[in-house]
Amino acid sequence: MSRPVAVVTGASGGIGEATARRLAAEGFEVVLGARRLERVQAIAAEIDGRALPLDVTDPASVAAFAAEIPACEVLVNNAGGALGTDPVLGADEDGWRWMYEANVLGVVRVTKALVDRLEASGDGRIVVIGSIAGFEIYPGGGGYIAAKHAVSAVAKTLRLELLGRPIRVTELQPGMVETDFSKVRFGGDEARAAEVYRGMTPLVADDVADVVAFAVTRPAHVDLDQIVLRPRDQVTARDVHRAD
Ligand code: NAP
Repeated sequence: MSRPVAVVTGASGGIGEATARRLAAEGFEVVLGARRLERVQAIAAEIDGRALPLDVTDPASVAAFAAEIPACEVLVNNAGGALGTDPVLGADEDGWRWMYEANVLGVVRVTKALVDRLEASGDGRIVVIGSIAGFEIYPGGGGYIAAKHAVSAVAKTLRLELLGRPIRVTELQPGMVETDFSKVRFGGDEARAAEVYRGMTPLVADDVADVVAFAVTRPAHVDLDQIVLRPRDQVTARDVHRAD
């Protein structure tokens, strides 16, 4: 019997990779998309999945990606991230533009491209990896916060617009997860990235993958609209318990 197909964007590392591995273990044929093709190819080979090049900020790349996927039941919109910590009044517009493109328009593009196949499956599931930055604010987070607030609005609007059609929409809003997220945000500065998690126990990518797997394996009439998950050591973006 053929396996149901789950598409994961940004599956070359972090939360996307963990989600791809977990969904494969749940019995899905996983299609992994990312810009670093060799990384998704290596992961796909381990989990009997398929790897495709994908840049969610590029409409032509998204169209080519979707053209290779004739059927799918689950779409995990995970690709994204943060760049820098510039204050609003010092906004680097290129960085802010990238964050909007990747975190917001990327989700819209990939979802538009695959929605007919999700619907045809009879039980489509769209997961959006948002963030606590989708409903909280902190100084220096403006560009990322604006983007994650926007994608939260998109997820909620989509849920409303899909009412009556066989597609569920779940927005996951994680707090601190130790991945390459902070390294990317700080331009590869590993010491600065490590400082983010100093003295506290963050979530790991598998913790988020676990929740994605739970959400997409509920019965078809159950929609987990919004899920917030954080480390025990974190209550808000700014209230973090550190042991030192
Ligand atoms: P990560 O380790 O840096 O992974 C980011 C993934 O996104 C990579 O696989 C990357 O692959 C992919 N990606 C980035 N830009 C892309 C593009 N234009 N097209 C396709 N793929 C792209 O960080 P992560 O923590 O796993 O982040 C995954 C998601 O979780 C993001 O949406 C992030 O905002 C969200 N999130 C993270 C945290 C956290 O604390 N880590 C908390 C809340 C939410 P390539 O570079 O190979 O393209």
